[in-house]
Amino acid sequence: MSDVFITEAEIEPTGSGPLDGVTVAVKDNISTDGVRTTCGSAMLADYVPPYDATVVERLTEAGATVVGKTNMDEFGMGTTTETSAFGPTENPTAPGRVPGGSSGGSAAAVAAGEVDLALGSDTGGSVRCPAAFCGVVGIKPTYGLVSRYGLVAYANSLEQIGPLAPTVEAAAGALDVMAGVDDRDATTREPPTEASYADAADGDVEGLTVGVATELLEGADEGVRECFEDALEELREQGATTETVSLPSVETAVQAYYVIAMSEASSNLARFDGVRYGPATETDGDWNDAFAAVREEGFGEEVKRRVLLGTYALSAGYHDKYYEQAQDARAWVKQDFDSAFEDVDVLASPTMPVPPFELGESLDDPLQMYLADANTVPVNLANLPAISVPAGETAEGPVGLQLVGPAFGEETLVRAGSALA
Ligand code: GLN
Repeated sequence: MSDVFITEAEIEPTGSGPLDGVTVAVKDNISTDGVRTTCGSAMLADYVPPYDATVVERLTEAGATVVGKTNMDEFGMGTTTETSAFGPTENPTAPGRVPGGSSGGSAAAVAAGEVDLALGSDTGGSVRCPAAFCGVVGIKPTYGLVSRYGLVAYANSLEQIGPLAPTVEAAAGALDVMAGVDDRDATTREPPTEASYADAADGDVEGLTVGVATELLEGADEGVRECFEDALEELREQGATTETVSLPSVETAVQAYYVIAMSEASSNLARFDGVRYGPATETDGDWNDAFAAVREEGFGEEVKRRVLLGTYALSAGYHDKYYEQAQDARAWVKQDFDSAFEDVDVLASPTMPVPPFELGESLDDPLQMYLADANTVPVNLANLPAISVPAGETAEGPVGLQLVGPAFGEETLVRAGSALA
């Protein structure tokens, strides 16, 4: 079998509906009853959840069959799927290169034609980045549209589960099935209309105003920029207008995102202590030693780095300096998007400023990796919806176009995205 799955499985449909006959790959941080869920970590190599995540329940009730759990960066922490304890996944459309991350196995499974649909989770770009690098469609829903019950938390205030598929219509169809209130996740709410997202995939962009934020083009590679300009031209030819806008706050987004994400991670990952979760260790009675030993062995380098930095950012004396400042920046990002959406219907940018990295290229340079998230993390900070659709290729691999909408504006994103894919 390919390197996209950590565990192969066969979770049969429990009902019949719009997803009859559809095969689904599920990211390995989404709980599956009786099928191990590792989060790409040695810590959870033997963990078998006793229940299904709500999204898995909803997909199988609608007729889908889950065929496996996909490779990912450990606990979702990465942009390349190389921090997985199970080894990297290769990009099926760009040999020798990464599939993006952290939902790289899910995007690769779709791109290689191994499944019809896949689930990822997006805390700071983890659905959109691999969608872009593998040349498929990925949707990051508005915070609260899709239940997180059964998703192993990395940074709860930022993340959503989202679909990856070969077409906008197929991704939108999965969203139709997953969206809406779940009593087990108090942050969920119903979609704004009864209308189906899949039906909105009609490619009609006549009269649509697309904003282009100059700040989101700054770091873009030459080849990526050309693909982006071509995609904008295509939208204009189909009746959309484009307009330049400014989002000055996004210059702070990568820093703010990493402080918040690492802080939440340091708290969420405290449960992996060898008592509640993780392998039990022999102790001579010293709790600190036992805790340290389990975590030393069970976590990879990137996870350790983030837990340490997050703990530091939350500690007495530094909380105001780092965590609270990051929250202020987050509020500013949100305000900036809100005012942009007074003038435009959607915002467009390259999903990733760079083409797919070569395997191994960015592992020793975490900062380079974090900076590649510049265009995706502002969307999570503002809890907004976004879609990544294929927008051509450079010599290094596929390029994605990101469209961002106002909260619960998925219908418009599907409509606009389907004009291109
Ligand atoms: N690359 C980002 C990070 O490492 C996003 C990850 C994600 O969305 N899970 O945090």
